[in-house]
This record gives sequence, C-alpha cells and structure tokens, in this order.
Amino acid sequence: MASEFDLIRRFFTHPCRNAVLGVGDDAALVRPTPGMELAVSSDMLVAGTHFFPDDDPRKLGGKALAVNLSDMAAMGATPRWATLALALPEADEGWLQEFSAGFFDAARKYSVDLIGGDTTRGPLTLCVQIMGEVTAGMALRRSGARPGDEIWVSGHLGDAALALAHLQRRIELAPHDAASCLAALHSPVPRVALGEALVGLAHGMIDVSDGLLADLSHILEASRVAADVDFAALPVSAVLRAHLHGEVARTCLLAGGDDYELCFTAPSSRHEAVMALSRRLDLPLTPIGMIREGEGMRLLDAQGKEMPIGTRGFDHFGAG
Ligand code: ADP
Ligand code: MG
Repeated sequence: MASEFDLIRRFFTHPCRNAVLGVGDDAALVRPTPGMELAVSSDMLVAGTHFFPDDDPRKLGGKALAVNLSDMAAMGATPRWATLALALPEADEGWLQEFSAGFFDAARKYSVDLIGGDTTRGPLTLCVQIMGEVTAGMALRRSGARPGDEIWVSGHLGDAALALAHLQRRIELAPHDAASCLAALHSPVPRVALGEALVGLAHGMIDVSDGLLADLSHILEASRVAADVDFAALPVSAVLRAHLHGEVARTCLLAGGDDYELCFTAPSSRHEAVMALSRRLDLPLTPIGMIREGEGMRLLDAQGKEMPIGTRGFDHFGAG
C-alpha cells in the first residue's frame, strides 16, 4: 500500500496515556503495574464471516475493540493496551476516517491505548489484540464454578442474533424493533465495570459470544460441574419476548451469539451482593439457574420439566 506510513500516522496514531512508547517504533513499550498479571487476548473479525463488508465503518471500529474489551471483562481484568492489525482491500480514506473514529471513541471511553499494529493489503480483516491487568491470582476463569453457585447473566440475550435473523430475512421485525436489535448487533456494550467488580465475588465467568448454551457449557466443562437452567428466567428484551413462541427467537436466545454479556457463577450466599452490584451499575443481573454436581446441562421449563436442547450439541444448536 503506497502510503501505508501516512495512513498509520493520520488514522492510527494517538497520544498514549498508559504506555511508555506507542505507535511508530519497531515495538511498543509498556510497564505492567507491580503485583498485577497481564491478561492477553485477541479477536479477529473477517468481512463476510463476522460482519458485512458494507457495514457502517464507525460502528465496526467500535465493535472491533468492544468484542476484545468483552474478553477482558470476562476475566475481571482492566483493559489497558491494544494493537490493531488490519488487512484492507484498498486505502479508502473515508472508510478509514470513520473506522478509526469509532475505534478511538471506544478506546477513550475505556482508557485503552492503541500502541501498535500492522497494516497490509488483503481481504478486509480486523484483528485486535488486547492486554489488560488483573491482580495476581484473582482473574475469573471458566474453571471456577462450584456446586451450589447461582448462575447469572448480565443485560439481556438474543437481540443481536435476532437482528441478524432479520437482516437474513429469517424473521421480520417491525422497523422500531429492528432498530433496537440492530443496535445490540452493531454496538455491543462490553461489561468492563461489571467484570472488574466481580473479582472476589464471582467464582467462574465467561462472556457470551457464541450463544448462552455453548458458552455456559464451557464453564461446566472447565469446572467439571453440571447446571440446571430455568428457561423462563432468561432475561430477554420486550422485542424478543414478543417472538418467543417461534423457533427463530428461541434459537437466538439460547444459541445466537454476539451478545457480549457476562455469564458468571457466584455462591448463593452472595445473592444480595450481586443484586446490590446490579443497582450500583444500573445494569440488570439475572439469576438463571444453579450449578450442581455432575455433568451436562438441563434446561427446565416453567413447570420444571426438561426441555430438549438439540441433539447435535450446543455448538450446532438450531443449525439443522
Ligand atoms: P514494521 O515494518 O517494523 O512492522 P510497520 O511499518 O508495520 O513496522 O509499522 C510502523 C509502526 O506503526 C509500528 O509501530 C506499528 O506498530 C504501527 N502500526 C502499523 N499499523 C498500525 C495500525 N493499523 N494501528 C496502529 N498502529 C499500527
Ligand atoms: Mg509491520
């Protein structure tokens, strides 16, 4: 790309607050806080697979960082630094201007420095690596759930997948309903403050990016426990609730993906502490079931009767 350095300078070089040295040298330099562990994660978004090539670039910039911030939140880590590797089919300055504005809006909001990256010509791909800090030994892992824990989720589930179903004409939403679901799909809010506040309170945690059943089952496997999930308790928006009689909305709720809410377990003795946190953060936190000894997951209806959750495994729930 002829003006690669120019593009990096114009669109991706902002002053750093957390780093010793940011964009411009062969490597960035950061100084981790003594007593903290570094949490490192990356998430790649590929055009045509994770987003549509003509999606609004400003929202895409925000989402590319948000999905990574969600991984920090899911560990209870405080996000601090990010790198951005971009493959671009062409140097579209209008697109880059918008993408970078969306990215830096989110970076500013969560006090994350963009400290480096790579820019190359290729099929549109956005790869962010994020680094955060968490007190040594305190990160919230998938393996921390214990029998007797309550299972909680933040916010509500399924709206992003419902928006995708609407775009793909698998369901038809009224314009106003579509708008609120599309906001969930294009502008997910990473639950960073919640993740940080759950350190020392929650036992096991994951962010819901592949659908509730799939992601909760990762906690169960890592923790070697089982769960009972109460279908009627699952938090849904009014829009999703209105469609819940149908297969599409149910699948969006249980296996949709792109929610970026946190699913965590905490001892039932801390129920009130979690509720207090919900009020302090002004964020719904809903108990959806219990961890028990054993293996696997039971999804229970309002009468306590077990509901079928697909024979092909949670990964493929609803896929055929
Ligand atoms: P090198 O050839 O040493 O890898 P580059 O020319 O790729 O260096 O990058 C020059 C500087 O710009 C480096 O500091 C790199 O981290 C940074 N950089 C490149 N692309 C991006 C980007 N998309 N966002 C942020 N920083 C970037
Ligand atoms: Mg390079």
